[in-house]
Amino acid sequence: MKIHEYQAKELLAAAGAAVPKGLVVATPEEALQAFDQLGGKPVVIKAQIHAGGRGKGKFAGSNADFGGVKFTTKREDVPKIAEVMLKYPLVTKQTGEEGQKVSKLLIVDAEAKIEREVYVGMVLDRSIGLPIVMACAEGGVDIEEIAAKSPEKILKVPIDPRIGLQPFQARKLAFALGFTGEQAAQAESILMALSRVYLDKDCSLAEINPLGVMSTGEVLAVDAKITFDDNALFRHPEIVQLRDESEENPAEIRAAKANLSYISLTGNIGCLVNGAGLAMSTMDIIKYHGGSPANFLDVGGGVTAEGAIEAFRIILSDSSVKGILVNIFGGIAKCDLIAEALVKAGREVGFRVPVVVRLEGTNVERAREILAAAQKELPTMQTATDLTDAAKKVVAAAK
Ligand code: GDP
Ligand code: MG
Repeated sequence: MKIHEYQAKELLAAAGAAVPKGLVVATPEEALQAFDQLGGKPVVIKAQIHAGGRGKGKFAGSNADFGGVKFTTKREDVPKIAEVMLKYPLVTKQTGEEGQKVSKLLIVDAEAKIEREVYVGMVLDRSIGLPIVMACAEGGVDIEEIAAKSPEKILKVPIDPRIGLQPFQARKLAFALGFTGEQAAQAESILMALSRVYLDKDCSLAEINPLGVMSTGEVLAVDAKITFDDNALFRHPEIVQLRDESEENPAEIRAAKANLSYISLTGNIGCLVNGAGLAMSTMDIIKYHGGSPANFLDVGGGVTAEGAIEAFRIILSDSSVKGILVNIFGGIAKCDLIAEALVKAGREVGFRVPVVVRLEGTNVERAREILAAAQKELPTMQTATDLTDAAKKVVAAAK
């Protein structure tokens, strides 16, 4: 689960990190009030979406010359900038080309200039099985490029999850990042806060970019992004409260409610499969035969008619789907029961695109009879003899 920048900075501030002063607003009028409340000083207006790269983003369909992070000193420009940000979708490298609608803005006191931008983050390093702190003296909006071109500039420190980042490690990191004196102490407190939040809240990623060295001498967490481990959310009701479903994929939310594992992808072949491993190999075989999956969908071991109906509804609600591959192995669930569920789903949902069914397992003969009997009623449905046959048929049908 992801949260907004302003929420991430609130969590970090509660753990002891210094952050710039800011106010969250939802309308151009509120933006103007926030500007006045902050003392009429220069501000940065920041679009709040669950994606990074906002600074370099664009508002699709507008002729604005700014992205999701806009500095201004002029009072009269504040509501104008806010209006554009709240009206057009923000497209960044991480949103996809349709962009993301912005419904909240963070108005930040920007009287102090940022003199230096540093990157610090914490993530799980699967290769060593430990969280690590990553840091780079050259932070800011080009961090991905630095990581790709000069990976040796990224410092990595493994952390013992039982005790967290230790003060001596934070100090060493602060010095390695070029901080001295009072600023080193400030950078250390922010690093300690980062580690506390990451471990206490079961994050899978927590990053501050930039950690800004301000013209006043202060060191502040200027931007922050946090992602939580979904499997640990049950331990953190206070984090679940921060969820903003409007930022998430509606089909994925709906699938989660029906206990289906669904991830939407960019291809045009919908997949309905029982079992995660089988779903992965189904996507592989579609690719192998020249097609492209529109989603990953695992309906689970015991397929029910209700589950199948909801799964078809979710897949068919994606307008880019031009064909569906149903790949079911009847193990715990018997094939004949699954076939009946598919026919019921077809009757209820209506198959607007070709549906290729590959069934294998217990009672498969009986299942084939059921599907054959329903053929007239469901003319877009066809059966396949095996997985290769199924993949070839659905790829051809979707073309
Ligand atoms: P991102 O592009 O989504 O990562 O958004 P950031 O919040 O990192 O903003 C991009 C850049 O805008 C930063 O690297 C800063 O240079 C600048 N910026 C962002 N927030 C502030 C702020 O509060 N004050 C000042 N002075 N500059 C900011
Ligand atoms: Mg940033």
